[in-house]
Amino acid sequence: MSTVMESSMSQEIINLEDKHGAHNYHPLPVVLAKGEGVYVWDVDGKKYFDFLSAYSAVNQGHCHPKITQALIDQAQTLALTSRAFYNDSLGVYEKYITEYFGFDKVLPMNTGAEAVETAIKLARKWGYEKKGVAENDAKIIVCEGNFHGRTTTIVSFSTDPDANKNFGPFTPGFIKIPYNNLEALENALNQENVVAFLVEPIQGEAGVFVPNEDFLSGARELCSKYKSLFIADEVQTGIARTGSLLAVCGNCSCESKCEKQSTYSTPDILILGKALSGGVYPVSAVLANNHIMEVIKPGQHGSTFGGNPIAAKVAIAALEVVLEEQLALNARKLGNIFRAEMNRIIESTDLILKVRGKGLLNAIIVNDTEESQTAWNLCVALKENGLLAKPTHGNIIRFAPPLVITESQLMECVAIIEKTIREF
Ligand SMILES: *Cc1c(COP(=O)(O)O)cnc(C)c1O
Repeated sequence: MSTVMESSMSQEIINLEDKHGAHNYHPLPVVLAKGEGVYVWDVDGKKYFDFLSAYSAVNQGHCHPKITQALIDQAQTLALTSRAFYNDSLGVYEKYITEYFGFDKVLPMNTGAEAVETAIKLARKWGYEKKGVAENDAKIIVCEGNFHGRTTTIVSFSTDPDANKNFGPFTPGFIKIPYNNLEALENALNQENVVAFLVEPIQGEAGVFVPNEDFLSGARELCSKYKSLFIADEVQTGIARTGSLLAVCGNCSCESKCEKQSTYSTPDILILGKALSGGVYPVSAVLANNHIMEVIKPGQHGSTFGGNPIAAKVAIAALEVVLEEQLALNARKLGNIFRAEMNRIIESTDLILKVRGKGLLNAIIVNDTEESQTAWNLCVALKENGLLAKPTHGNIIRFAPPLVITESQLMECVAIIEKTIREF
């Protein structure tokens, strides 16, 4: 009897969304009502491991007490002033985040897409005013398979037909090259009026594509050589997800504020979002040094909510948690264990072809076509067994648990994944 009631409860809520909401997502049929750490619970009280972490926004775990407290305290004190006035939280946050990542200045925004738009505007303006490119002819190099958000300009340079079909006319000024290809990058940088290379250090939405060891450092060097800006979109890969503070840090293992060790492919512009707030509030940021950031003058860019006191307090708390709980180290350590375990399972199944990833941003490739339903069906089976993940394509499943996961919890999850694959 209880099963009937359970399913009717979630079904009612699913029907509400179906009837009254735009169908711009296709969620797994689970209705969540509560979260804590690595766990979420559905409306019927069933508990799951969250292996998506809201697309890596909840690296610090669901409802982290320290971050939640910062949100509550500031919400009860001062929520929003707009930037027409100073507020007593923003400057403190700006000092904290710029020292944390080693840049002169930050421009605060709210969503990842807004931060990418900000970086594009910044790079273009820098190009006209500092590099001397021809007016209205600045070009930015991007990669095939990119995901940088959903605005009209950003989808203009997407290579995913779902993202841009019938959303034109498109914003000009972007050159697409294959990902992970330094020769193509050099050829593109050699063209006239190029101002920047915008890249994800690991392509998350494309299916967790990890580039060659030398790609990011090579790209950094080439951008310097051709006097263009190296822009890293670390909205998904940043904040400890891939086993270091940023994915551009390579194998740097610093557990404190960035010391810019030799493996660090320092971007000229760094874009952060998602886990910058631990998932409790939309907070994004663009970081750069003075010679770049100074091209933006009062009135030339902004956001009503960007840099608001709640966002400032929440982001400080979220970044402190990353250091206090050594999340980069944990992601690195458990990521190695996870891939080793997946490889062990893969040896004795035909269903999974390979595992790839870095830190706790990983994906398994299912032995079927991109158009197939296999990855979706596998995710439904994983859900039944108490683990939530989502396909990025018909044949790729991303596994990205909150970074607060312990080794024994991870091994429980490996057992769920193994059992689900064996029974499939
Ligand atoms: C999620 C994501 C974005 C967009 O962030 P939103 O907050 O959804 O606008 C941009 N870039 C990357 C790499 C992302 O993963």
